[in-house]
Amino acid sequence: MLDAGGWETRYSRQIRFAPIGTDGQRRLGESAVLVAGVGALGASLAQHMARAGVGTIRLVDRDYVEPSNLQRQALFDEADARDALPKAVAAANKLRNVNGGIRIEARVADLDSGNADSFVRGADLVLDGTDNAETRLILSDVCYARGIPLVYGGVAGSEGMTAALVPGETACLRCLIGGDAVDASADRTCDAVGVIAPAVEAVAALQAAEALKWLSGNRGEMRRSWIGLDVWSFAVRESKLPAPRTECECCGRAGRQVRQVAAKAREGISAALLCGRDTVQVTLADPLPLAEVKARLERSGAELLAANGWLLKWSVPEGERIVLFEGGRALVQGTGDEEHAIRLCLKYVQEGREPACAG
Ligand SMILES: [Zn+2]
Repeated sequence: MLDAGGWETRYSRQIRFAPIGTDGQRRLGESAVLVAGVGALGASLAQHMARAGVGTIRLVDRDYVEPSNLQRQALFDEADARDALPKAVAAANKLRNVNGGIRIEARVADLDSGNADSFVRGADLVLDGTDNAETRLILSDVCYARGIPLVYGGVAGSEGMTAALVPGETACLRCLIGGDAVDASADRTCDAVGVIAPAVEAVAALQAAEALKWLSGNRGEMRRSWIGLDVWSFAVRESKLPAPRTECECCGRAGRQVRQVAAKAREGISAALLCGRDTVQVTLADPLPLAEVKARLERSGAELLAANGWLLKWSVPEGERIVLFEGGRALVQGTGDEEHAIRLCLKYVQEGREPACAG
């Protein structure tokens, strides 16, 4: 690992990019992503996240590296194929050389409905690098149940598709491609029609850009559209993503939860954006005592940044920092979104549930 003093140098070009800046870079470092599937798309996505400095990257893949992967799967080499290394392991080995300052977890597993939640848990965002509709629908269900965005991506031939699906804001994948694990592009798999690397990289770039926006705190900048593109004929189609469908078990319920939180927020809780500080002050109606919040945070393994008789300060997995004062006043640092700040406070300070810890 490079020495810690080099942090600002290492990420200087990303920090100079105004929408990210030092603050966004710090948030990236405190974020966790799941890269589901480490084939062509997943390997490229994982590399983007590692180079960008995302603090925790969890890689899940069921396959091993084969010679036919090398044409497009940018993290792997001939030695990986010769040794038949699991893709998650081979990718993690490469990424640890790319960035020694982040945590990389490799899981060799077939992501299914029984284990998906254990992989998604603790992630701030999920990047889809899978190659089949069945797994994607499982991911969509788990992500919507947990309120975590899923950045969908798919490639075949010279074509690709991508969309960032956000619980509470957009329809889920089940609503977009049909519910019964029917692969909308079943006749257009890479096995059937092949795939060229530029199509992979084009889709991965669009997915990675959405991930950077979300994780660096630029959530309002998320592209609310479905993109289909062809890098050979050069065609790009963009269509607006539909809102959650009220009758859907997944996105409809996620939408209702968001609305319930908003309704609750009106019951005696107030929030005010502090001018020019990217901080929201939230006043809670029914706060837990500081000592109880502290005990919960310690049990959850959360990183306490400050604790004394007057206040507690800690980072939440979503990327913000909360400063909680005795009496129920909280500063949520790192957001300008009052609704989001209230949601965080309800989650970590007021409700009976245990706070989750990152990663
Ligand atoms: Zn839905």
